[in-house]
Amino acid sequence: MNRSYIMSKVYNWQINRDMSYPYEGKYPERQFASVFNINRCIACQTCTMACKSTWTYSKGQELMWWNNVETKPYGGYPQHWDVKLLNLMQMAHNRQEKSMTWNDEGEYNGMTIFEAAEKEKTENGQSRVLGYLPEDHEWTKPNIGEDASPPKVTKTDKMGFVSEPVKLPEHKSFFFYLQRICNHCTYPACLAACPRKAIYKRDEDGVVLIDQERCRGYRKCVEACPYKKAMYNGQTKITEKCIACYPRLEGQDNHITPDGVSVETRCMSSCVGKIRMQGLVKMNQDGLWTKDEENPLYWLIHKEKVALPLYPQFGTEPNIFYIPPRWAPRSYLTQMFGPGVEQAIDKYAAPSRELMAILQLFRAQREVIYKYQIKKGPKIYEKEITLSDGSQKRLNIFNDTVIGYNEKGNECVRTTVEEPMYERPAIHFNSI
Ligand code: SF4
Ligand code: SF4
Repeated sequence: MNRSYIMSKVYNWQINRDMSYPYEGKYPERQFASVFNINRCIACQTCTMACKSTWTYSKGQELMWWNNVETKPYGGYPQHWDVKLLNLMQMAHNRQEKSMTWNDEGEYNGMTIFEAAEKEKTENGQSRVLGYLPEDHEWTKPNIGEDASPPKVTKTDKMGFVSEPVKLPEHKSFFFYLQRICNHCTYPACLAACPRKAIYKRDEDGVVLIDQERCRGYRKCVEACPYKKAMYNGQTKITEKCIACYPRLEGQDNHITPDGVSVETRCMSSCVGKIRMQGLVKMNQDGLWTKDEENPLYWLIHKEKVALPLYPQFGTEPNIFYIPPRWAPRSYLTQMFGPGVEQAIDKYAAPSRELMAILQLFRAQREVIYKYQIKKGPKIYEKEITLSDGSQKRLNIFNDTVIGYNEKGNECVRTTVEEPMYERPAIHFNSI
């Protein structure tokens, strides 16, 4: 067992404290990040196929899905990935007489996967990160458990039909879709675990890549990544992962970006449900995001706090953020997204004027938006909304115009809250 390394202390803003990590903190100028709005996903898997047909169509990649969309609570790729890791963490906490809880200040009291490994170096065969290696069969069914919800707890009539209406704020029987790619973590577990130092994080955009020349296929990254987004290729005998479509981020494709500005990844730009918005956010050298309230991602994540990281207690500081589903049980969601769930759901359920406008930018076009601006319009709608605690709040909707600007500061999208309607001219009636 290798005990020669020394853990550094780094600040992880998602768990609101310093934590142990095998390397010193080093932060990119800009960080690849994204917000996924779970409430809108229809599990069409267009994102999954856009990724597959671009990057993983070769021999040895047949069961490799860098982007996948799974149905929670039962689905998972690889099967039960989060349940298995949460169990491992729970056992480590039991042995150390600790608990995976958060205090009132939003600080995580438990151990991350790095800290659990540090405490229990000889227990799990993994020196730097608490993890496990999925078995081959667990990767074979990317969509197992699709649309399955936990057993019914609502009343049914003699015919078996639900006799009680399903009401918000929380459904008793539920499922939702979880969209997953590599999180291009600030403290990647895959990078921390690699004995070959074959994994690196790019200075310009924080994208985490595996050097295919250096990798020897030891699969320490597969074992360590808590999200199981590093995948072994049995044909080439080396490991691969999502590359955040970096040629698109670099604006290298003349056909789609003649002026060389960055465009969103394939999975983002193909999203039919308009659930995804990707960006490149500025970072400070202390590991915090640079305050930039004109950037829509900064605004959603740090100002409005409507989008949350997936399993922040793992400690990798993932950079994909989720607007949690309104209808799912809060305890389940809190385990998955941390203590900000109720606040995030309430903000989304009765959105502020600014949030309503920014939500219109999701998938309005494919260039990366660096800045937004809102022009005020008239009030068009009002409604009473039920919040998490069952109380009511009045929602006012305005037909504001929202404008997005690209990397070069040029306008790349302009849209309104109320979707414009176009009437087909009579001459085209019933024609194709
Ligand atoms: S393309 Fe969008 S809506 Fe369809 S499954 Fe993917 S994330 Fe969901
Ligand atoms: S999600 Fe996994 S593979 Fe991606 S950067 Fe984080 S630890 Fe590495």
